[in-house]
Amino acid sequence: MVDESQSNQHLLKKKEALIKHFIASDTLKTDKVIRAFRTVPRELFLPDSLRDSAYNDTPLPIGNGQTISAPHMCVIMAEILDLEVGMKVLEIGTGSGYHAALIAEIVAPIDSQASGHVFSIERVKRLSESARKNLERAKYSDRVTVIHGDGTLGHPEHAPYDRILVTAAGPKIPEPLIDQLKNSGKLVIPIGGVYFFQTLILLTKDLDGKIKKEKRGGVSFVPLIGKYGH
Ligand code: SAM
Repeated sequence: MVDESQSNQHLLKKKEALIKHFIASDTLKTDKVIRAFRTVPRELFLPDSLRDSAYNDTPLPIGNGQTISAPHMCVIMAEILDLEVGMKVLEIGTGSGYHAALIAEIVAPIDSQASGHVFSIERVKRLSESARKNLERAKYSDRVTVIHGDGTLGHPEHAPYDRILVTAAGPKIPEPLIDQLKNSGKLVIPIGGVYFFQTLILLTKDLDGKIKKEKRGGVSFVPLIGKYGH
């Protein structure tokens, strides 16, 4: 039988190998995202039966037909968002809570008193509850607030946000999310069909509120379901 410390050592080795690969492939670009990826234990956001696969670069099932995104996708979105300590971030699609913790580790590092915060919305109640538990055991529950509801409506109570990320693919960018983004803010979202032909879009608002959209490559996400979704 493999004891717990051996299993932890094995996971750490796999995590370091993945970091090396992400740096070599220019997926991980900045020290802040590298540090956050190293700090947040992805294994704590998975069912125990999938713990050993935590640092395989694939999406994994988390129940209710949903997935935790592949590590490279979480890293790519974190790099595109250009996050800074102290920012207020809105995530649509909490899933396991991992991506929210990764973002929180950049805007409010666990060993700091930084005021950054992540608000994360999940439409499946059971997932919102298990994400809260995962965030609690990974010690991010004071930095991430999980809300159960339709994230295509955003979360006006704490708007405007410095950054918004959507981790499910919609047919178009939900208007409420654009409205709830600060001037000089950034929003990243996969746009396209249900499971196929999706493109990652970066929307930026300049200081005067003028909007620019850029394509950032092909992706494959579960559908964004809701009033402004599929
Ligand atoms: N970020 C997640 C993680 O780290 O585990 C992965 C998210 S998974 C790819 C997409 C999630 O979006 C699913 O949990 C799904 O239930 C959720 N979702 C889909 N439509 C939504 C909506 N309108 N509002 C909130 N969550 C939604």
